[in-house]
Amino acid sequence: MSDLTRISAATLAEKLSAGEVSSVEATQAHLDRITAVDGAVHAFLHVSADEALATAADVDQRRAAGEDLHALAGVPIAVKDVVVTKGLPTTAGSKILEGWVPPYDATLVERIKAAGLPILGKTNMDEFAMGSSTEHSAYGNTHNPWDLTRIPGGSGGGSAAAVAAYEAPLAIGTDTGGSIRQPGAVTGTVGVKPTYGSVSRYGLIAMASSLDQAGPVTRTVLDSALLHELIGGHDPLDSTSIAEPLPGLVAAARQGATGDLTGVRVGVIRELQGEGYQAGVLARFQESLAILEAAGATIVEVSCPHFEYALGAYYLIMPSEASSNLAKFDGMRFGLRVVPEDNPTAERVMSATRGQGFGDEVKRRIILGTYALSAGYYDAYYGSAQKVRTLIQRDFDAAFAQADVLVSPTAPTTAFKLGEKLDDPLAMYLNDVATIPANLAGVPGLSLPNGLSDDGLPVGFQVLAPAKADDRLYRVGAALEALLEKNWGGPLLSQAPELEVAR
Ligand code: GLN
Repeated sequence: MSDLTRISAATLAEKLSAGEVSSVEATQAHLDRITAVDGAVHAFLHVSADEALATAADVDQRRAAGEDLHALAGVPIAVKDVVVTKGLPTTAGSKILEGWVPPYDATLVERIKAAGLPILGKTNMDEFAMGSSTEHSAYGNTHNPWDLTRIPGGSGGGSAAAVAAYEAPLAIGTDTGGSIRQPGAVTGTVGVKPTYGSVSRYGLIAMASSLDQAGPVTRTVLDSALLHELIGGHDPLDSTSIAEPLPGLVAAARQGATGDLTGVRVGVIRELQGEGYQAGVLARFQESLAILEAAGATIVEVSCPHFEYALGAYYLIMPSEASSNLAKFDGMRFGLRVVPEDNPTAERVMSATRGQGFGDEVKRRIILGTYALSAGYYDAYYGSAQKVRTLIQRDFDAAFAQADVLVSPTAPTTAFKLGEKLDDPLAMYLNDVATIPANLAGVPGLSLPNGLSDDGLPVGFQVLAPAKADDRLYRVGAALEALLEKNWGGPLLSQAPELEVAR
């Protein structure tokens, strides 16, 4: 296998701008890697080889002509299939959108294209981003590159697995309750959920509009900062977009990489540890705290008493919003249309299309959401959940008065076996206990690998910052990454078993 797939996006970008390699070579190396391993991993739903190579050739030409290019120009990227891409199939992991080819690009895709990043393809995911294992995809399981019998996390398991398996140096994920960070944790990759409103949602197929955020999936903290700066920033097409420039993320990552955290107050969230967390996850967490302290950070304990109710509030707010967002998939406008033989009225077409087009988990959440929103129950369920949401936001405000960043394990356990939690929705939902509070409050969060548990599988460390202070994630994340890699003698991913390569 070519070295070009093993290096970070930042290193590849340097080689490209120095003229050591061409984007066509780098893109082809990743396409070859996809051919070699994706039969086993199944990270991709669609590979856009021709389009990627055409972009690469164009970038090479522009570079040769002396054009001033974006720092990441020519570095290939994979995009989660919930993000609309003009001319490339976009299914959101659902049969109801099978065969749909969007007529426009999401804002973040437009930015990726304008910067000259070849798009390798679209990655697998739980249907409409509902899940923590990618097993709810209508198009088959994605396998964790560390152990192919295990889940890659979800809903963005495809993006995380693609990056972990060296099929792509960069990927886009979306995070409504943890779908960037939890897959990052269980695959040994880095994932960031930006501040709500800091990356445009225009062109993301909505799950829960008040919670959804797109963000980077990478192998290093610096790579996430580079990609985050590319896709982030104000967009008039998203009414919730923040009309302020992003803080300096790449600069913060570079500052952090020196390993000096003098003066940084790190708050350990008391409620996000202990019962339900695997012993190896807790052990790695404590070791990481010791590393941060040795780097000059002050460790304080903070309490967020309402986090206990975050999961409950999330599973009312998210399905409520999703039930409304998914109403547009009616067999009339996009994708699948099922026409019953007798008496095919519009209503019966809609019912048949939704009956066949949606999977069980999506139906479960639509039922839950429409129930929670129904007259007579609205105040008791949706109304109460919104009050809890406010209390969680206040917990964050109080905690951030005591600390610059907050930390916790990203996920309570390492990757579980495929099939293990498929019949137990509640057990599946519990994977996101530590990630959901950030979505409810709109604050940013980063997950980075911080070691292996006793089962030899990767563990994730979560850093949270106040809204619009995403730079803090990168400073602290890059410092911890640098110090951990010094101990390991290289990236954690280099300890993953080699995948069998098909030729
Ligand atoms: N696993 C969570 C859920 O099923 C989060 C999903 C997400 O972030 N898209 O809702």
